[in-house]
Amino acid sequence: MMASFRTLDDLGDIAGKVALVRVDLNLPMKDGSATDVTRVEAVKPTILELTEKGAKVLLLAHYGRPKGQRHSTMSTSFVQGDVEEVLGKEIMFIPEVMGPVVEQSIGILRNGDIGLLDNVRFWPGEEANDSEFAKGIAAHGDFYVNDAFSAAHRAHASTEGLAHHLPAYAGRAMEAELKALDAALGNPETPVAAVVGGAKVSTKLDVLENLVGRVQHLIIGGGMANTFLAARGVDVGKSLCEHDLTATANKIMDTADHAGCTVHLPYDVVVAKEFAANPASLRTCNVHEVGPDEMILDVGPQAVEALGDVLKTCRTLVWNGPLGAFETEPFDAATVALARTAAALTQDGSLTSVAGGGDTVAALAHAGVKDDFTFVSTAGGAFLEWMEGKDLPGVAALTA
Ligand code: ADP
Ligand code: MG
Repeated sequence: MMASFRTLDDLGDIAGKVALVRVDLNLPMKDGSATDVTRVEAVKPTILELTEKGAKVLLLAHYGRPKGQRHSTMSTSFVQGDVEEVLGKEIMFIPEVMGPVVEQSIGILRNGDIGLLDNVRFWPGEEANDSEFAKGIAAHGDFYVNDAFSAAHRAHASTEGLAHHLPAYAGRAMEAELKALDAALGNPETPVAAVVGGAKVSTKLDVLENLVGRVQHLIIGGGMANTFLAARGVDVGKSLCEHDLTATANKIMDTADHAGCTVHLPYDVVVAKEFAANPASLRTCNVHEVGPDEMILDVGPQAVEALGDVLKTCRTLVWNGPLGAFETEPFDAATVALARTAAALTQDGSLTSVAGGGDTVAALAHAGVKDDFTFVSTAGGAFLEWMEGKDLPGVAALTA
């Protein structure tokens, strides 16, 4: 189902060639240095593979939202030190993305050296995906490598446009992400289970609508389960609930029925009268016993055990969104328990498990199983759009 794309394996002799490599260097910074270099570590294999083969590597990235203007606080030079540290190599900062300064810098770089171009979003042509702008950058390179899946949902010059002006390849991180996502929803081994949780139905309507037609089990948890329960006539008390979306929830459940997808809603839940850590009013009850002054804050233990049994019958799992308000104890229990079951099944080799989403990644890390899933995507928006079944322009350009 996945159209094929070229990878670094398809590169011939690249010694002395200039590689334009789109990476994600939008690092969280504090006091002038990065608080998390995961994004640099992700692109390190691609960069080093290219330098080891003798290419001159020009890194192309955005940083913040400068909206098409130079902005002294948003230069990619701020991340240069962190990138050098992770790569274990010095890099040359180049304060432009095209023109004579770039040309001269390429002349100075030796084979296997790395240059860091400035924030590509300083120029309006980037977000406008202006083809002249893309051509101007492309003129400096011999080929283009995209290793920034996290930016692939945007059709910008550096994420999409360049692929039309140069031979284009997926970097190693992009390749791994696309293969994992294909194994989870493109060409998955069945049965497939999807866990969709998080706060609100409204932010994940497209995800739910895409999944019901593609998976055999749809496990709904988190605050959004309350809307589905309410749609089934359950009184959810003071719980977070989008009552205006109950008709939509019913429609999704009908679609699921026709598609042969079983929707799993919790039948026991953890409730409290106030949202705080270990509140005095904490109790577990059947969904039909929630009091008018109580909030559902997690899926109950019996439901979690049943969901674990569902996963045992499945070959593939795709997960976005925590099952409860996991940041506050003990409302992390269901998420942690089901994540550990999924991790154990993955380690046993019976389940391919792919997860993504900002809070989901944090929840899996909290459960101590982030490295035990088959693949955990840190791509945020791009991951969600992929779960919505959308074509990602940055990926489509590589497969064209
Ligand atoms: P992701 O970032 O992985 O896509 P979301 O942002 O959709 O996930 O959802 C995560 C948020 O949902 C968390 O902050 C969590 O506390 C909240 N949440 C989960 N269950 C509930 C619930 N029952 N009531 C209120 N908030 C909830
Ligand atoms: Mg979130």
